[in-house]
Order: sequence, then C-alpha cells, then structure tokens
Amino acid sequence: MTRPRLMIPGPIEFTDEVMAAMARPTPSHVDPAFIDIFGQALEDLRKVFLAGPDYQPFILAGSGTLAMDSAVANLVETGDRVMVVGTGYFSQRMADIVRRYGGEVTLLDAPPGETITPEQLRGALARDAYELVTITHVDTSTGVLTDVRGLTAVAKDAGALVIVDGVCAAAAEEMRQEDWGVDVYLTASQKAIGVPPGLGLLVISPMAKTRWLGRTHPVGSYYSDWGYWLPIMEAYEARKASYFATPAVNLVMALAVSLRQILDEGMENVFERHVRLSNAVKAGVAAMGLGQVPTDMAHAAHTLTCPRYPEGIDASFLKFVREEGAILAGGLHPAIKGEYFRIGHMGAVSRSDVMTALAAVEAGLRRAGYAVEPGVALAAAQAELA
Ligand code: PMP
Repeated sequence: MTRPRLMIPGPIEFTDEVMAAMARPTPSHVDPAFIDIFGQALEDLRKVFLAGPDYQPFILAGSGTLAMDSAVANLVETGDRVMVVGTGYFSQRMADIVRRYGGEVTLLDAPPGETITPEQLRGALARDAYELVTITHVDTSTGVLTDVRGLTAVAKDAGALVIVDGVCAAAAEEMRQEDWGVDVYLTASQKAIGVPPGLGLLVISPMAKTRWLGRTHPVGSYYSDWGYWLPIMEAYEARKASYFATPAVNLVMALAVSLRQILDEGMENVFERHVRLSNAVKAGVAAMGLGQVPTDMAHAAHTLTCPRYPEGIDASFLKFVREEGAILAGGLHPAIKGEYFRIGHMGAVSRSDVMTALAAVEAGLRRAGYAVEPGVALAAAQAELA
C-alpha cells in the first residue's frame, strides 16, 4: 500500500469488510434484510458496551457531538445541577452543551494532562446536590484516561446519574457499562467502533430512561428527542418497519459488520490488544526522548499517545511524518496546542501499524533536525511487545 496510514485519533483506518459494506447498493430503510441488519447492530452495540438486555441502544445519523447533544437534551432540564469532570477540550464541550439546555454546570477541572480522582469527585459532590455527573472516558485533546469505574461509583453514591463520553474510548478502553453503573455511554462511529464518520451511538440504562420519562418539559431539540427515536429503535430490534427520519443506511450496514468483527475478537481481547499496542507506542516515544502530555502513565489513554515535541521541533514536522508513511494529528487543547502531537492507535490497529507510525516519527524527527538514532523507537516497541 503506497498511501500513508491514517493514524490520527479518528477517523482511523477501517477494515476491508467495513468498506465493502459502505460500497453495497443502498437498500430501502424498510427493506426486511436491512431491518434485520439494523436490529442485529442494536443488539451487538449493547454487547460491545457490556450492557444487559434492559439497556436501550440508539443508532443515530450524526457525529459524536450529536450523541452528546442527544444525551444532554433528553436528561437535563432547566436548573438541573450538573458536575462536569473536566479533563480537556471535550469535557468543555460537554459543559457547553449542558448550559445550552439550561443546566447549571460545576466544572471540576484538571490541568491539562492531569486527571480527576474519585476522591476529588467525592469532595466536590459533598458541597451540593447534583442530578448528573458527566465524565470524558478519554479526552482526545490530552490523552488522559479517567477512572470511569471509580468516578461512577462515587457519583452513584451521591445519587447522581452518570453520562460518559466514550467517543475516543468505546470498543477499545475497558468499559463494563452495566457492572459499573454508567447510565449513558456514548460514542461515534469513526473511532474504535471502526466505521466511517456519520453515526452517533448511545446506550442508556433503565434509570436514565426513567429519568427521561419523568421530564416536566418537552425536550428542547426536535431531532434529538428520544420520544421520536425510542419507538424506532424498538421497532428495528423487533424486526419491524418504522420511520421517523431516514437512517444512514450504508453506515448502519458497515456498523453491523464492524460490531461483529469486534465481538468475534472478544471484548477482553480487544481491551488487552489496545493496552499492549499502546504500551509499545509509549515505549517507542520514550526511547526517542520525548515526554507526553498525561502527567502519569497510570492515567494515559490506550487509544492515542500525545508526545511532546522535543526542543526545536513543531507541528511542521508532521508533513515529513506523512511522507514517511503515517498521517498524525497536531495538538488540540487550547492551552498547550503548540506543544504536542497525537498518534491514534485504536480500532482495527495492528502491530505493523504501530511500527509504521513509530518508524515515520523517527524519520520525520531526523528530517526536521532532531537527532534520533535510527531504530531506537522500533527496538523499544518490539521489546515491549516481546
Ligand atoms: N468527544 C470526544 C472525546 C472526542 O474525541 C470527539 C471527537 N474527536 C467528540 C466528543 C466529538 O465527536 P465528533 O467530532 O464526531 O462530533
């Protein structure tokens, strides 16, 4: 393959089988064969999130931001107090969405690269009563992984519902939605779920549904209103025709293929592969003498790595990396944007992808004038994988 590998934190490289599903003739959204595919995708999404049969999946045409909007529009009413656990740019976005729907936000914000511990959240929640807590599983702008299990336990103890933005984590980082008590886990298609951009995905708990049913005012977004979507999702799962707004038919077909591939690998294997490959990338980055944005590898994501530029190097070196075979991303967090770059390694990523990316970074750094001995990153990564 001569084109460079797309290794940004989404969209990513998709499997041939997924791309083949995208290229199939588009069926009617009420074709019995498509209804069956949609129903299967809903069932499989629940399994990927490790949620039980009484959890409700939604597959919506839109991006990850639509999934966030859908969760907040349906669960937040004017005056609700919402604690936003802040670990970067996308937590800020969640806070903005909550405010837009009338929620009163308390932002428990960590400096870039740091996380919020369950103890910190417990302290913050003790000061007031909160209806909701939002958590970003992996903030793509910092590469920080939160302790969703611990944070959720604390939030539930305090009587709050929990929304987790899993856009840069779902189907890669460990997530046991039902065991951990997460009320809404949401993501987008273009990351570890492994489907081109265009789907927002959510699975909600029975408690979230109960809260939504108890709303006193109509949902402030027409398109996001679960009142329209719930009957559609129930119909597809019952293998019945139904219509509210046209689903993204080919994307749903591709999703069904990708979810099957993920489940065939097995969730425990998927989680383990992401840890293993991430450790290899991080070992390679350290071997080149580069720091990372997360201040402790114990809270570093396994879906992406955020290396800091060495002295004298900036985002312009990424064009060399691209010529050497890998498309990587620059920084995103406004406070540190110019200080780091991002390597995505999620979804159907393999050890050869990881080696390609590290080799391209090594070569790119040398071309940009930073002395790095050929092969050091690759050797460190291989040692990690051995
Ligand atoms: N949350 C996180 C953690 C993300 O990484 C992203 C996308 N990078 C989003 C939300 C927004 O998703 P989208 O760009 O698909 O709207």
